[in-house]
Amino acid sequence: MPVLRKQDIQGRFDQVIATDRKRRVWPLRTSGSTCEPLIYPGNQEKYAYGFANAWRCRGWWGLHLGVKAVCFYERGFSIYLDWKGRIKRFLVHEVRDRLANYRLFSAYELDEPRMAKAFGYIRKVRPDMLIGYASSLYVFSDWVERSGLTEAARRMGVAGVVSTSEVLYDWQQETIERVWGCPAINEYGCVEATIIAHECPERSWHTMAESMYVEIEPFENADLGEGPKVGEVVLTHLLDHTAPLIRYAPGDLSTLVKGTCRCGRGLPMIDRVQGRKHDLIVTREGKCVHGQLFTHLVQRTGVVQKFQVVQESYDRLSISAVLQAGKSMSEEQETALKAEIRKHLGDQVEIIISYVPELPNEASGKYRWVRSLVTEGKIRAPFSP
Ligand SMILES: [Zn+2]
Repeated sequence: MPVLRKQDIQGRFDQVIATDRKRRVWPLRTSGSTCEPLIYPGNQEKYAYGFANAWRCRGWWGLHLGVKAVCFYERGFSIYLDWKGRIKRFLVHEVRDRLANYRLFSAYELDEPRMAKAFGYIRKVRPDMLIGYASSLYVFSDWVERSGLTEAARRMGVAGVVSTSEVLYDWQQETIERVWGCPAINEYGCVEATIIAHECPERSWHTMAESMYVEIEPFENADLGEGPKVGEVVLTHLLDHTAPLIRYAPGDLSTLVKGTCRCGRGLPMIDRVQGRKHDLIVTREGKCVHGQLFTHLVQRTGVVQKFQVVQESYDRLSISAVLQAGKSMSEEQETALKAEIRKHLGDQVEIIISYVPELPNEASGKYRWVRSLVTEGKIRAPFSP
């Protein structure tokens, strides 16, 4: 059975719906990792399972349905909607979220004044849970720490920070936990399939095996570090009969974990999702280097607040960095960083480091730390990673 990919279902909204469907469908928009939006049919059946799975797993951490939550998400712009659309959005988002005890904070532009406002808001409403895009939660927590507000944040009694939609790097998880004094929890899923796996208190990632069959498709030509071979996550939704996903690859990398978890839950496990396929940097020889390597290297300099690594071509890598206030990158640090990158990408690679005042989020409100124009297909690759 071949693997189904985003490009296979892109632009085929009507064709992926079962002809004998019994339920209403609606379009779900996702930004997609190639910046091209994917529109997939959503339906109640799939969402009911996704919702139940999410709350079951948050419950493992003592966060039960109805806890007060502040969310860092983006909901798009209502200026594009007609009056019916606006009323619907109001009912769905304002009324439903209020009933669910959710309060939304826009993740689209988290600049300094907005973060100060968000902090004041959290102090006022005292949520049990923060939830949102990994990058938004990290950028916000990092700002709290740098503003000397960590003590105040810890006193607010947030019991858990749930990260969704994007890869939460381990250094981001550490910052979030340090600031809020509570666990930062990985909820792994995608809009098309809902929750795929969830972190348990023993820090294992359990798959939602009752509703989803998860495989790892081996990945050739990869230099992705020690341990078991990394592959692509491939899932089959077992309970969605309206728009079935069979052997679907959302573009994420992980490994299967054997054995049983110390928490006692019997659900199968995968390793921490190590990034999106599009975060891979590919050399001319076809070696894949994981994006996480670059995020670690840049982060380790200790002077950078936000950054983006872009592989512009096989021979050129650019790093745009927003420096922390009052900090600068020394010439030695720059040289060491470049030398370390060349160890993995080869001596021929030109590395450009530039300092910018701000790096905006994507239109979806998410943020990509590593991009490769080679793996995004904007440059002809010698093989398809
Ligand atoms: Zn477990």
